[in-house]
Amino acid sequence: MALLVQKYGGSSVADAECMMRVARRVHKTQQEGHEVVVVVSAMGKTTDNLIALAKQVNARPSDREMDMLLSTGEQISVAILAMALHSLGADAVSMTGPQAGIATDDAHTKAKIMAITPDRVRENLDAGRIVIVAGFQGITPAFDIATLGRGGSDTTAVALAAVLKADVCQIFTDVDGVYTTDPRIVPTARKLDEIAYDEMLEMASLGAKVLQSRSVEFAKKYGVVLEVLSSFEETPGTIVREEVKKMEDVVVRGVAADKGQAKVTIQHVPDKPGVAAQVFRKISAARINVDVIVQNVSEQGYTDISFTVPQDDLQRSETAMAGLLEEIGAKGVTYDPEVAKISIVGVGMRTHTGIAERMFGALADNSINIDMISTSEIKVSVVIKRSQADDAVRVLHEAFELSGE
Ligand code: ADP
Ligand code: ASP
Ligand code: MG
Repeated sequence: MALLVQKYGGSSVADAECMMRVARRVHKTQQEGHEVVVVVSAMGKTTDNLIALAKQVNARPSDREMDMLLSTGEQISVAILAMALHSLGADAVSMTGPQAGIATDDAHTKAKIMAITPDRVRENLDAGRIVIVAGFQGITPAFDIATLGRGGSDTTAVALAAVLKADVCQIFTDVDGVYTTDPRIVPTARKLDEIAYDEMLEMASLGAKVLQSRSVEFAKKYGVVLEVLSSFEETPGTIVREEVKKMEDVVVRGVAADKGQAKVTIQHVPDKPGVAAQVFRKISAARINVDVIVQNVSEQGYTDISFTVPQDDLQRSETAMAGLLEEIGAKGVTYDPEVAKISIVGVGMRTHTGIAERMFGALADNSINIDMISTSEIKVSVVIKRSQADDAVRVLHEAFELSGE
């Protein structure tokens, strides 16, 4: 007997028919002799629709109320799935994140899981029940409901798998695994049989939304074996696991695109010690995750500082910038909400050379201008115009010969 955590994403539970399909699969798993914890997302586009609804009544809804609203989506799913399982004669019980013992910090809309007390989940498993937990949510120290950021149900599933010491955490979705790039952008993308935690972590953080990056962080930290597979077909998926030596033979494992970035440029900033610290202190106090940073060459004691932020944080950045310009003696600030970050990822980059050159060359040959560059041991990222993002992904996928047969 194994303990399995199975997570089903929004499109896998989009309507009653999908719910029944999931219920049958979960029930079958239990009948094969396993204990099953199921984590579900909100049905279909529920989360997007709730966000749009909130924006209709308030352009800047409070984060606390946003969490109150968005967490309802997952709550619908768990109840419906429990009812679907009951209709098959299965014993199942639904739980919200707080009921399942998931405690978070108080960073509303992007909360982090701090601890899980899974006693109630364990008791119900011991009683032979299938336990269905609402993804994407937990409870703050002040007993408010908080959500874990878009795609957060993946993290709920992996964190539960870690704390319950599950044998595997299966992420069921609308593609049958992790591909060399988003198969919706490049139809010839190839499915990977396996990928190293570090590569998946980079791919996810750099925009491959097939897994939330925090879920991969958890999986790596606690050694949770992750499998990404289709909820619609019974084909083998992709295993995300510890790196082995032979993985370094492949230079580039995949290409990721993040089309949700915006660029902020502070102009004519005095080029002296302490100014950059002042800028980023202010930004971090506003809980904005700054990504790529570029400071231009100084001219007569002044320079420009550019950085990217998630597009959703642009309003917050504008607020944080107000007042700062005068404080640091800068001339002005401009915003470009239409940028994208395109990255190539692979553990093989540690042992191969000339990768960046090949990447920049391929982009240049296709008239794609690079705005900013950032690198780490196993990735190279470029910031470009958003309108060229899909083209850039195709060009790089081709340049590094990632397509299937
Ligand atoms: P779910 O609702 O199941 O959580 P998501 O929409 O969050 O599903 O994630 C699955 C989607 O991720 C796929 O439909 C695909 O378009 C996208 N995706 C992006 N990059 C990749 C990749 N490298 N491999 C597979 N899917 C990817
Ligand atoms: N429903 C949430 C979202 O759409 C969480 C998730 O699906 O993982 O982002
Ligand atoms: Mg998802």
